[in-house]
Amino acid sequence: MTSTGHLEQQLRTLRLSETAQQLPEMITEAEKQDASYQEFLARLLNYEQKRREEKRIERNMKWAAFPFHKTLEEFDVHEQTALSQKQLNQLKELTWLDQLYNLILLGPPGVGKTFLGVALGIEAIYRGYQVSFLPMGELVHILKTADVIRKSQTRKKRILKSDLVIIDDLMYMAMNQQEANLFFQLINELYDQSTIIFTSNKGPKDWGDLLGDPATTTAILDRILHRAEVIQMDGESYRMKYRKSIFGEENEQDKSVQN
Ligand code: ADP
Ligand code: MG
Repeated sequence: MTSTGHLEQQLRTLRLSETAQQLPEMITEAEKQDASYQEFLARLLNYEQKRREEKRIERNMKWAAFPFHKTLEEFDVHEQTALSQKQLNQLKELTWLDQLYNLILLGPPGVGKTFLGVALGIEAIYRGYQVSFLPMGELVHILKTADVIRKSQTRKKRILKSDLVIIDDLMYMAMNQQEANLFFQLINELYDQSTIIFTSNKGPKDWGDLLGDPATTTAILDRILHRAEVIQMDGESYRMKYRKSIFGEENEQDKSVQN
């Protein structure tokens, strides 16, 4: 055993495993710099705290299962006329999350609904919350198979433990009665304990058509809209715009051929 081996073991027993790993280097460093006892202890504790936080973020990011990593800082407000910088800053403060206010991000494809959902989710993780991101199709699959597939069961448990659940592309497909019921059960369980962000290209008025049974639909909508902020995103599709700039020259050529 090395000279610090015993200490390392003790640190591990005390669940200071990050520090245990780093101890020899930290001691050498402190001796070299002639650090005071207080300074050394402060460094040690800071290190443990910092590493734990880093690991928490890493773990929660994995849990959340985002389709990509984009932050609010990367969100270009000039591209999204429906949202001002001030509103974006307000969203970033996450008071809606603490107050269990659902967010409903509406708009046609390509306007940045998924982007904004992911970016708010990532912000929430940095601020200590647990988040789950689910494309609608995946969510329905998880709910239907939670009793028979272990992976689905694990994910369902995580969803129920999340402070923020992001459901992407809600109602892009019609649900059968069984699916609608499972979905309602989930909304019911999340109600009053988690915040939900929905993205959709259809407004709540049209959701009813996709859920079939009016009683289930009314019940779900009641729950979702009871405390909700609807953000209507519009403007030209970012995807389309980007594509245009890539193919700009080609389009010009097309025109000249036609002429
Ligand atoms: P939606 O979910 O509304 O269909 P996405 O979030 O998938 O749209 O956005 C489509 C593409 O446009 C993505 O590549 C996204 O990064 C980009 N995008 C959309 N809005 C913005 C924005 N405000 N700033 C920067 N990129 C954007
Ligand atoms: Mg999307």
